[in-house]
Amino acid sequence: MEGNITLSIIKPRAVQKGFIIPILDKCHEAGFRISAMKLMQLTKRQAANFYKEHEGKPFYESLVEFMSSDRVVVLLLEKENAVADFRKLIGATDPTSAEPGTIRNLYAESKEKNAVHGSDSDASALREADFFFSKMERY
Ligand code: AMP
Repeated sequence: MEGNITLSIIKPRAVQKGFIIPILDKCHEAGFRISAMKLMQLTKRQAANFYKEHEGKPFYESLVEFMSSDRVVVLLLEKENAVADFRKLIGATDPTSAEPGTIRNLYAESKEKNAVHGSDSDASALREADFFFSKMERY
């Protein structure tokens, strides 16, 4: 399994703007399989825990507020080389430097409201998958 999964979150602003389906389409075209998926609103506490590694950074409080402000779609995606391939598909954190055609280039508003999250390593993907999904919820 290691190397084959990544965790993504379609962030509140992208959900509000109706980008769930276009983003899922991009994932499908790129060869990702959905292993688990849910539409939910994070509590502030969940968002704070999820982004714990960023605690203390200047954007942390605002990021936690934003991520818990409305519904998100949490996706567990499967594919060979999932973490690296998904990061390529979404583009740079800052949408102004994201490659044309990437998800953030197409659908992000700003560094904070950057449409999607993608795990940054296999270890993060495993931890983040456990954060959101029980083993029974994965297919
Ligand atoms: P990362 O774990 O690097 O993806 O960062 C987590 C999230 O924090 C990013 O997806 C952005 O939403 C947000 N973020 C990272 N850096 C900044 C920044 N300099 N300003 C505002 N938000 C940021």
